[in-house]
Amino acid sequence: MDKISLIIPCYNEEQALPFLYKEIIKLAEEMPDQEFEFIFINDGSKDKTLDLIKSLQSDDSRVHYVSFSRNFGKEAGIYAGLQAAKGNYISLIDADLQDPPSLIKEMYVSLTTESYDCVATRRLDRKGEPPVRSFFAKQFYKLINNISDTEVVDGARDFRLMTRQMVDAILEMSEYNRFSKGIFGWVGFSTKWMAFENVERVAGQTKWSFVGLFLYSLEGIIAFSTRPLLIASLFGILFCVIAFFMICVIIAKTLIWGDPVAGYPSLICAIFFMGGIQLFCLGILGQYLSKTYLETKKRPIYIIKEKA
Ligand code: UDP
Ligand code: MG
Repeated sequence: MDKISLIIPCYNEEQALPFLYKEIIKLAEEMPDQEFEFIFINDGSKDKTLDLIKSLQSDDSRVHYVSFSRNFGKEAGIYAGLQAAKGNYISLIDADLQDPPSLIKEMYVSLTTESYDCVATRRLDRKGEPPVRSFFAKQFYKLINNISDTEVVDGARDFRLMTRQMVDAILEMSEYNRFSKGIFGWVGFSTKWMAFENVERVAGQTKWSFVGLFLYSLEGIIAFSTRPLLIASLFGILFCVIAFFMICVIIAKTLIWGDPVAGYPSLICAIFFMGGIQLFCLGILGQYLSKTYLETKKRPIYIIKEKA
């Protein structure tokens, strides 16, 4: 009998969880030939999420939980869930019902009858999202797919059903700076894409601010491409070439007309410009260095306070 593990990262989801639980119970009833386990990851919630999970667990032996000592972020939650999962098919699903649990039935059929290792979802549209955010999201996907060898699919969600083999591969990537959208692509395996229309969250608030998303996208670029490091070298070459021509022009002008070069304003502009470029390149270097620094510390990705 196949066992399906549902991993549900939760951060302040007391309002959404009852709705989700009802849906996954329904799913389990519709799939009587498969065994289920529901793994809730309490990512340092400050509301009653943990109490709610505990009360669910007291009546339902399929419910398990891992509770963190503080908020470690969704990426850490996903990793903890994958480590805790015992099923031979494993699914990641958000707590806010933006990922319809009923799709898992279809995913399971695809995985068992076709030769895929993973069925993942992407949203067709970004309905209900601020246009500015959609614009930047589009630019981000364009950029990262241009500069990285790992494919990151536009609109891809973390919602997916994977085989045990693929999950084991993901678990071997124990890096501290985790960018799951890249990791899923990097491990390979054949993925079937399922599209669905964007659904708004059932209750509660999104945890992502614009700045938060922006920093997360930088994380993704740094984790899956070293191309930005090239920028410094390219700028260096470009400015050497420009400087060489400028020197030639100035020498020629002095020899022919002998006029002195008027200095101060142009000099200040050049110094500011070069200073800006140098700091920019230094900043890129600093980003990679800081990630390397955190990686070498080998800190744990999350800390468990209690689990059951
Ligand atoms: N989440 C989490 N830790 C965090 C932030 C979010 O475990 O620090 C969970 C959250 O409870 C939800 C999922 O990640 O189940 C997606 O979060 P959210 O709905 O806020 O993101 P959005 O759907 O707006 O991208
Ligand atoms: Mg959501």
